[in-house]
Amino acid sequence: MDEFRYVSLAQEVVFGPGCLDRISEAAERYGWQRLMLCTNRSMRADGIAARLESLLGGRLVAVLDGVQPHVQAEQVAQALTLAAKKKVQAVIGLGGGSPIGMAKAAASELAQKHKKSTPSPATADNHSHIAVIAIPTTYAGSEMTPVYGVTYAHESPPRKVTVHNPKITPRLVLYDPELTLDLPPEMTASTGINALAHCIEALYSFTRHPLSTAAALSGIQHITHALLRCYNDGKDLEARSEMLIGAHLAGQSLSSVSMGLHHGICHVLGGTANVPHGFANSIMLPHVIRFNAEAVAQQLLPAASAMSLHTDGLRPVAIAEKTAQRVHKIVHDMKLPQRLREVDVKEEDLPHLAQLGFQNHTVQNNPRPIVNAKQIEDLLREAW
Ligand code: NAD
Repeated sequence: MDEFRYVSLAQEVVFGPGCLDRISEAAERYGWQRLMLCTNRSMRADGIAARLESLLGGRLVAVLDGVQPHVQAEQVAQALTLAAKKKVQAVIGLGGGSPIGMAKAAASELAQKHKKSTPSPATADNHSHIAVIAIPTTYAGSEMTPVYGVTYAHESPPRKVTVHNPKITPRLVLYDPELTLDLPPEMTASTGINALAHCIEALYSFTRHPLSTAAALSGIQHITHALLRCYNDGKDLEARSEMLIGAHLAGQSLSSVSMGLHHGICHVLGGTANVPHGFANSIMLPHVIRFNAEAVAQQLLPAASAMSLHTDGLRPVAIAEKTAQRVHKIVHDMKLPQRLREVDVKEEDLPHLAQLGFQNHTVQNNPRPIVNAKQIEDLLREAW
């Protein structure tokens, strides 16, 4: 790594138990008078959505509380209609990557709509920014990134399209570990592995830089120290706090570097084979580490130390193998699926999924070159 370049994104990040309460002060400070909330039913059931409604009072002018997984295109259209009708200035995503993705999509579409309907270029820019506020309750990391995916489930085949737009990077992120105390063990486990995967792919990304590497390594340390504790006792606030710091660091590393094969193939599995994002991550990560080891074993070395693995006398490729085995064990201990067949992926669909993976531009950013779809098909067969 002799040269590097990265874009830092202007965000206010607040971390701490109970920090959800800071939302009203922040809304006042930023001048947001008309906010929309995107969330899902579990936040309603947990009472967190109601707490937010009470904190914001009359500033909250619209609520979409049935956000579906993977940001569905039809629902983005509904969110846009509601946001435009209520003239919202900022959109809150409360929950996992799906509501945060929906908040980004709604903000982006509304900004586009304003831009199209504003004749004067001088004022167009004023109207082209709708702020996003992210309040994450899983470890997926979307709160730190300028990216969202939209799923077109009714196309044949269904597909997920990624949109990159720095303007939709959440302006304010509230990390309140208390909001994660009710995250069920399976979601804790699977989104935790998603965060771990961000760190691993950041380590060997060809656009890595000193800050992304530092964040990724510290993220791996926190995650491997806290994830199983959170899985075994969801109410352990100390472990939840450490895990959320790990997820923040993972999101920080994810936000400024290109991901590779793992990230790209998980998107294909989610968008086309309907595999929940965290499950796709849990199944694929050990296989991708092995696949990439021959090209990036050197970059993966510090991951093993961050996981406190004993590596004395081992060659880098053997250390990468040990790292893959450790990930496999964590996934196993948390009783997550370890095979694609367990999540209803059909063997006969693997060639097609491999073909889609080969066309995926994130896959093409992998440090070990992907020169044909057969390489991906072989990888998927190992994971099947
Ligand atoms: P999700 O948002 O789909 O949520 C999964 C489930 O967890 C839901 O049923 C939800 O109700 C439940 N849940 C969430 N928080 C809870 C809590 N505190 N208590 C109880 N239940 C809770 O899942 P996810 O894995 O967080 O996000 C996945 C989506 O995010 C995918 O579409 C993925 O592509 C996207 N993503 C995007 C980025 C990005 O940078 N844009 C990063 C990571 C993931």
